[in-house]
Parts: sequence; structure tokens; C-alpha cells
Amino acid sequence: MKKNDDINPGEQLQELLREICPPDAEDNSFISRIDYLVDAEGELKKLIYDSTINYVLRRLISTADFLKRQCDKQEKYDESFIVKLREFLKENMRFPEENIELIRVLITECLDAKRKKVNSTLKKEIRRTAKNNNRFCYLCGIELEYDLKSPNNVHNSVEVEHKWPRAMGGLSDAFNLEVACQACNGKKADYIDASDFHYEEICLVTDENDQHFSTEMKREYELALWAKTEFKCSLCQKPASDSGKLKLSRKNPNDSWHFLNIEIFCEQHSQLRR
Ligand SMILES: [Zn+2]
Ligand SMILES: [Zn+2]
Repeated sequence: MKKNDDINPGEQLQELLREICPPDAEDNSFISRIDYLVDAEGELKKLIYDSTINYVLRRLISTADFLKRQCDKQEKYDESFIVKLREFLKENMRFPEENIELIRVLITECLDAKRKKVNSTLKKEIRRTAKNNNRFCYLCGIELEYDLKSPNNVHNSVEVEHKWPRAMGGLSDAFNLEVACQACNGKKADYIDASDFHYEEICLVTDENDQHFSTEMKREYELALWAKTEFKCSLCQKPASDSGKLKLSRKNPNDSWHFLNIEIFCEQHSQLRR
């Protein structure tokens, strides 16, 4: 359970956006009709909703950053940025009046988080604890090389990663940090969750035993798929950081390898599914 102050401002802003604009329980929108058409049982609709909320979140944080840079250029005080952001929200967006001040405060906290890097003592501490517990990359489950000096080009060298991206209002505090391999850290970029990746690109033509499957199933795709279960086995909830690389399998064996047809399991449960 998280402590009260262990919540990323970006996450709080995302929650607020969901409250202001909740998904419709029943509707006959084009998205619902397409969801029905491809027999997604509401999963596609949810994905598009999540992805759109993330889009609005990204727009708000980036636009605020844009305005802040303009104020900084003109060497204006923080006060003028606050006024400018409030004006922007009132005049260029249509949020309910009663939510504007909280949105503004949260955006400002997101920008503060974006500008704050992890302090080097904390970074060392996190690496040390992870090494002592023999933690794997929390994203792909690879065994990590803890003793390499950075910077280097070794794909499984250790990096301290923000679970909720710093650029999207993630704090540089211990609760939001994990060890990841260099390869995953780069590819995860500032994606928030599975819906933030290019899930629509994941439509493979090869099958698991085909020679080109591992090439077609790119690391970005795997990250998007593992993100569906927050990098845990969907059955036992064991995280990749403890159990190693998570396996992918198809829900419907008559259907191809596409985002909505792929499930995520630990090694043990993946064998049970075969
Ligand atoms: Zn990794
Ligand atoms: Zn499992």
C-alpha cells in the first residue's frame, strides 16, 4: 500500500482526468461498434479510453512546459507562469471551472518532478539493495550486470528507472524507482502504461516456432505486452524482477499474435498453458 505522499503528481492528474471524463458504461459510439466488430469484449474500448486520457495528460504537461519556457526566456517570475497557465486552462480548454485550480496545481507539480533528477546517494542505495537481492530487470527480467561502470554499451548493465516516467510527472523518490537494463530503459522512454505504446502496430504474421518470430516480435512490442500486466504474471502476479523473463502466449490459438490476443505468464504458468 502506498503512503499518502507516495503518489506521483502525474498519476494524480491522470486520476482527476478520469473522474472528469469517465468512460460510458453503455454507449453506441463508433468505438463500441468497432470493439464489437472485432469481438474484443470491451478491451479495445478500454484501451482507446486509457490511451486518450494519457494523450490529454501529455498535452497538459507539455503545453505547461512550453509556457514555462516562454516565461523563463522573458525572465519572468514564477508568479507570471502561474497566471499564464491558469489563463491558458480557462481560455483554451473546457474543463469545469471548479477543477481548473487543482489541475493547475497538479500540472505545476508535474513540471517540478520533470525537472528533478534522482539524487546520486539514493541511486546508489537502490542499486545496492537490488544487487543484494539479486533483482532482475523489472521490465524484461534479464539478469543484470551490477559491477559495470557507466556509461557503457552493455545491454544488461543496470540503470535506475522511473516506473511512472519523470517527464509525465513521476517523482524521483524510492517508491517510484526500480532497476532496469539499459536496453529496456531506453525503449520504455516516457511511456506510462500499455495503452501508451503503439499497441495497434502489434499484429504479427509469424508464429512462435517460425524462424523470424523473434525478429518480428520487437523489444518495444514485448514491453507494451508486459506492460498490460504491469510486468507481472497474470496468474500468480509474480513480477519479472523476481521470476525472470515473462512469457507470451495466445488466448485464442486460432487467432494470430496481436496485442489483444496475447497473455502474459511466468515460466511456470506458461508451461501449464501449453
Ligand atoms: Zn530489461
Ligand atoms: Zn505465474
